[in-house]
Amino acid sequence: MASLNLSHIYKVYPNGKKAVDDFSMDIADKEFIVFVGPSGCGKSTTLRMIAGLEEITAGELRIDGVVVNDVEPKDRDIAMVFQNYALYPHMTVYQNMAFGLKLRKLGKEDIDLKVREAAEILGITEYLDKKPKEMSGGQRQRVALGRAIVRNPKVMLLDEPLSNLDAKLRTAMRSEISKLHHKLQTTFIYVTHDQVEAMTMGTRIVVMKDGVIQQIDTPRNLYRFPCNKFVAGFIGTPQMNFFEGRLLQRGDVVNISLDNTAVSVDAPIGLFDKTDRAYLNGDKKVFIGLRAEHISVDPDAHPYRAKCRVSHVEELGTDCQVYADFDLDGSDTVAESPTRVIVKAPAGSWYDADSIIDVSLDLDHMHLFDTETENTVAPRIPEEVVVDGRIEGGKLSLLGSEILLPSAFDASEGDVKVHIPTNAVRLGGDIAAVVREEEDVNGRILVHLQVGDRVLFALCDEHTSQEQVTADIDLKSIALERNGETVQPPLDLVNSLPARLSRRKATAHKQSDGKTAKGAEWEYTLTVAGYDLNCSAELAQKLIVGGGKNIFDKDLDVQFDPYTATVGEDGIAASVLRIADYGRECFAVCAVGDNTVNVSVPKGFDGKELRLVLRPEQLVVMEKARGIRLA
Ligand code: ADP
Repeated sequence: MASLNLSHIYKVYPNGKKAVDDFSMDIADKEFIVFVGPSGCGKSTTLRMIAGLEEITAGELRIDGVVVNDVEPKDRDIAMVFQNYALYPHMTVYQNMAFGLKLRKLGKEDIDLKVREAAEILGITEYLDKKPKEMSGGQRQRVALGRAIVRNPKVMLLDEPLSNLDAKLRTAMRSEISKLHHKLQTTFIYVTHDQVEAMTMGTRIVVMKDGVIQQIDTPRNLYRFPCNKFVAGFIGTPQMNFFEGRLLQRGDVVNISLDNTAVSVDAPIGLFDKTDRAYLNGDKKVFIGLRAEHISVDPDAHPYRAKCRVSHVEELGTDCQVYADFDLDGSDTVAESPTRVIVKAPAGSWYDADSIIDVSLDLDHMHLFDTETENTVAPRIPEEVVVDGRIEGGKLSLLGSEILLPSAFDASEGDVKVHIPTNAVRLGGDIAAVVREEEDVNGRILVHLQVGDRVLFALCDEHTSQEQVTADIDLKSIALERNGETVQPPLDLVNSLPARLSRRKATAHKQSDGKTAKGAEWEYTLTVAGYDLNCSAELAQKLIVGGGKNIFDKDLDVQFDPYTATVGEDGIAASVLRIADYGRECFAVCAVGDNTVNVSVPKGFDGKELRLVLRPEQLVVMEKARGIRLA
């Protein structure tokens, strides 16, 4: 039993390849986590770092709360099963399973008990005297699993353990491994490139691409709420249909049209509460994603109809897949056509090639992605909502409410677009709102708040039992825009300053056995914006491990929020450019060299120069050149 915590883990191979890029996640005890993604995306590297077989370049790995970066693999209480099960051919199954325990010098009786118990769990008791060559692939893989579980590990790591098996055996072993997880009640981490394996086995899945986590979620949520086109296309068979198209809002209706087709449907604006409004003006193209099961050959199943031309039908027994094209006049190159569509139909459906059929679209399950970033434009937790507002007489009116603008705002009077980030909206305040929905999103509650004619979103820790509530908007986080230009940016909450690490030898007086001994010790200094800060040996060690021996020649960047830096007697010299007074909170916007730094100050603060006090241990330290977070 173990929980794991991976915090900003990086792997950069000696040849400069960044195989794992800022991997962070918490894994609870007894979870079945699957790392999935195409070959080369960094799954195995991450797993091997957890096992201790690969050094962690930067970041911290904790098992049960203890940092294990420097703990030997054999002392991590982790067992690993590989694709090529590497059994010793000259040993029996029993000997293979007992081998590791013998090395650990366990008693004969103890070993016997453990081997027989594991064999029982895996159903291989009758093969204990056989040699691996007398067994099938599936049985051999079971022995490999047995060899791992006899050790009673806290964490089981499995790297593509089934990819050498044929399809049928793979399916059988899949459920056996799930059962095994249930029986053993340990934490499992499983690597695969096969999305079906991931979906059927994982309690949570980590989808990776190019060393970067794309999404961590339950199988169901990955399927329903993919965060980008890659995840949408990777999860689910057949692959989600994608079309390029445009969205155009006219009053309460949004017209959806697909490029190079006659498909054009009008949907109510209510379907687009979470959609970034910038995509609703007909200018910006989007990828529209619809799964085969969300298009029906029954034209009356959903209120949005379209016509398509059939290419061919695949009968699957339980249902059919109709391959068709929304472009009714195109040549018959269905596979390459960007307007090709796969539609799920009841088993036994038949349509002649080239026949034109009516289908209906389930737009409740439509996905929208930016054509360049490929990120969803309607995230499950919207980053922000943009609403119309007006500044007049020092007040901002929006959504039927009026907010007195504090002096931090200096935008001139007139109409503005107000960008309200979700993390700026809280319950309680002066704005009347009606709770439309409360959505559980990975342990937090996303409350949909009807305010005037728009829906705002607030993330809360608990459900609210009320329907009529009030909301509050944190003004420092909103932005005002006029004619496409930002006239009031949000307060920047991430300050960044240049830094360098250095060290010098100092004489230390060590106490041991009541005697004082003199010795040389390194003393480390983190110089931030030209100001020297004493750096603990522990932090320095982290920077040296992550940054390498030449860390002392590297440009670093320290980051901190406006509350981490304090104003004090001695610190980094900063000249105050202005005071940003947001009513409840006040910040000094300061120049430090060429950088601007925001720091929280008490109301009424009117200094022109100040000293910023920073503690190195509270800073995020980035290595600039490789873009690696070292601490
Ligand atoms: P996956 O398990 O997802 O297939 P890996 O974790 O094995 O991917 O590899 C991630 C990336 O790191 C790949 O681009 C791979 O080529 C590269 N890589 C793996 N091992 C090394 C190594 N020892 N040296 C340099 N690059 C490596």
